[in-house]
Amino acid sequence: MRLRKLLELVLIFVMTLSIFTGCVGNKQKEPISRTEFLMDTVIMLKIYDKPEEKILDEAVNRLIEIENRMSVDIDTSDVSLINKNAGIKPVKVNDDVYYVIDKAKHFAEISNGAYEPTIGPLVELWNITGTDREREKASIPTEEQIKEKMALVDYNDLELMEDNFVYLNRKGMKLDLGGIAKGYAADEMKRIFKEHGVGSAIIDLGGNVYALGEKENGEPWKIGIQDPFEIAGNYMGILNVKDRSIVTSGDYERYFEYKGKRYHHIIDAKTGYPSENEVSGISIASDKSIDGDALSTALFVLGVNEGTKLVNQIENIDTVFITKNDEVIIQEKLQDEFTLKKGNLKLIINPY
Ligand code: ADP
Ligand code: MG
Repeated sequence: MRLRKLLELVLIFVMTLSIFTGCVGNKQKEPISRTEFLMDTVIMLKIYDKPEEKILDEAVNRLIEIENRMSVDIDTSDVSLINKNAGIKPVKVNDDVYYVIDKAKHFAEISNGAYEPTIGPLVELWNITGTDREREKASIPTEEQIKEKMALVDYNDLELMEDNFVYLNRKGMKLDLGGIAKGYAADEMKRIFKEHGVGSAIIDLGGNVYALGEKENGEPWKIGIQDPFEIAGNYMGILNVKDRSIVTSGDYERYFEYKGKRYHHIIDAKTGYPSENEVSGISIASDKSIDGDALSTALFVLGVNEGTKLVNQIENIDTVFITKNDEVIIQEKLQDEFTLKKGNLKLIINPY
């Protein structure tokens, strides 16, 4: 199944390119780009106005550094060290890791645990990687296993202490920054690009996009919004943005099917199961990608009503929900910026 995932990822890349190549004017400079497989996804960095390979080198090195510090799959990462020492002792982490965990705790608090950074034990139990889609022969976890792991999930037991120390205060607890790290990484890419004087670039970390500046002709970027009913790389609409992050969470990305039912990778800590509601996909436009990433995961779990109420309390967050009833729900303020591309979907203004 690995092959299928890779094929999809290649398709995403090709589609992404086809969208963005339309963005170049007939200027003298050719854009430069880099594609890598990092942070468990395809990343694509493209600079339009300052074609210097050394900027891309620095950016990619930073991505590797972030992955090495924040991945649960890397044994020596700060996050793995925190997890190994759960219930034993606090662990001193790097500044960036501390910053991301601090943000993670904040979003857990304001979403009342819909975004839940200590979801690790449940993620591990469900083991939904996206590379193993047909598990007819396998099974899903038992109620008992789920209950047992749920008891280990609670952001209130994640402690941020002085001097960059972080502590999970019960044995068996596990931090998982998978719902926020790519957003942070996108913000870091933007920082590096800006430090080098880049004014026009696309940062795409597996669908976690930062559209830096504007197109060279001064027009906004046109960012494709993933169609949750199609495989990755198919767009159901276009959002016009300048200097903004667009992050999407959906049930199409990483999932497996068991006895005809789809189990995707965003877990509702309150039920212990992959979250189930009317939402099939949610895209968030925000200034900071770290905010968009945490919020997209939170809103996927919260649903349209509760999710919209949450973002209405935060400044400058835009949402596009796609529901299982073929509705695309946008806020009124997005009316001029969003174009629906798929005829069978119904465009609705968010009533909340
Ligand atoms: P993706 O990483 O596929 O773009 P998300 O940003 O929505 O999608 O993050 C999903 C990842 O976050 C999961 O793979 C898992 O590691 C972690 N996760 C799953 N459920 C939750 C949750 N309720 N809160 C926070 N993180 C979660
Ligand atoms: Mg997320």
